[in-house]
Amino acid sequence: MVLETAYYDTLGVKPNSTPDELKKAYRKLALKYHPDKNPNEGEKFKQISQAYEVLSDPKKRDLYDKGGEQAIKEGGMGGGGGFASPMDIFDMFFGGGGRMQRERRGKNVVHQLSVSLEDLYNGATRKLAVQKNTICDKCEGRGGKKGAVECCPNCRGTGMQIRIHQLGPGMVQQIQSVCPECQGQGERINPKDRCKSCTGRKIVREKKILEVHIDKGMKDGQKITFSGEGDQEPGLEPGDIIIVLDQKDHSVFTRRNEDLTIHMKIELVEALCGFHKPIVTLDSRTIIITSHPGQIVKHGDVKCVLNEGMPIYRRPYDKGRLIVQFQVNFPTSNFISSDKLPLLEKLLPARKVVEETEDMEQAELMDFDPSQQRRRHNGEAYHDDDDDDHPRSGVQCQTS
Ligand SMILES: [Zn+2]
Ligand SMILES: [Zn+2]
Repeated sequence: MVLETAYYDTLGVKPNSTPDELKKAYRKLALKYHPDKNPNEGEKFKQISQAYEVLSDPKKRDLYDKGGEQAIKEGGMGGGGGFASPMDIFDMFFGGGGRMQRERRGKNVVHQLSVSLEDLYNGATRKLAVQKNTICDKCEGRGGKKGAVECCPNCRGTGMQIRIHQLGPGMVQQIQSVCPECQGQGERINPKDRCKSCTGRKIVREKKILEVHIDKGMKDGQKITFSGEGDQEPGLEPGDIIIVLDQKDHSVFTRRNEDLTIHMKIELVEALCGFHKPIVTLDSRTIIITSHPGQIVKHGDVKCVLNEGMPIYRRPYDKGRLIVQFQVNFPTSNFISSDKLPLLEKLLPARKVVEETEDMEQAELMDFDPSQQRRRHNGEAYHDDDDDDHPRSGVQCQTS
């Protein structure tokens, strides 16, 4: 049991979720609420980041589970140490390389690409339109005509303006602010010489079509990096475009690493007497799985076919396992008349005979409804009756 669920709720996961589930939840939400895509959701982006920062660290997660947000705040985050910046968490997660790199390079652009399990099985090429900043080629990133750029006379090129305030005799205050003439650029362009294409901003927004090659066996969350295709800024190395694959759920197969799982319903006669069953694979072949006469498949049995799972990334001729989880459909009540039951019984393994004695009581067996039990529980919780002192047994059926 956990004390609070707020961080889990923020990421939309259950308190018992696995590290992989947490990663996936963070990935989806962080991309959705990143300031580049959702400039008005800064607070939400911060919350997602903080929740992930705590829950992705086993020690902090344990601390949170036991003591809630209070424990996290007292434990050095929040107050003293504080949370990492949401951008740093994001860059670390998506491989952006942290603050140092960000200063020398343009921003990375991260996009999510939704792919089907078939795409990941067979490989695919997808075209993706992305928006990015590029250096204006009309003015080659100068912002205006050659020679039109001049050092800002107000700040002499520093971009900063320093004003000196006399507070009293021998006491001065220096106030430093961004130069209003050049907005901190240190240079200015006569408005009539400004580049018409970028209006002097040196960069333009450009749409670019990327061809994304999805290789066989790639995984949910895998990144495909286009080096140097990210945002450009004058004087900086361009950043990268990072495509993050997001595997869609499949109606038949569930993937776990290289294994695929399928649920198969079989009839009781098939469970007892054998069967041939077709399965359509993700590359549209049909394979037949067989249970030979004499073999019994029980309800809940798990079997597998080797080399029919997902292709292994970069070794696509090797595949994982196809795991088949069986569900046996039992016939409904009275499916044969009761006079024929002895015939069936004769074929089945013999039953154990129970000896009934005089001191045994007959009890009626009913269908169990768990929701009914829960309602009774809640209703009684507010009463102060003697029963509360006794531990309740798991299942109580009433007969009336
Ligand atoms: Zn321009
Ligand atoms: Zn200036």
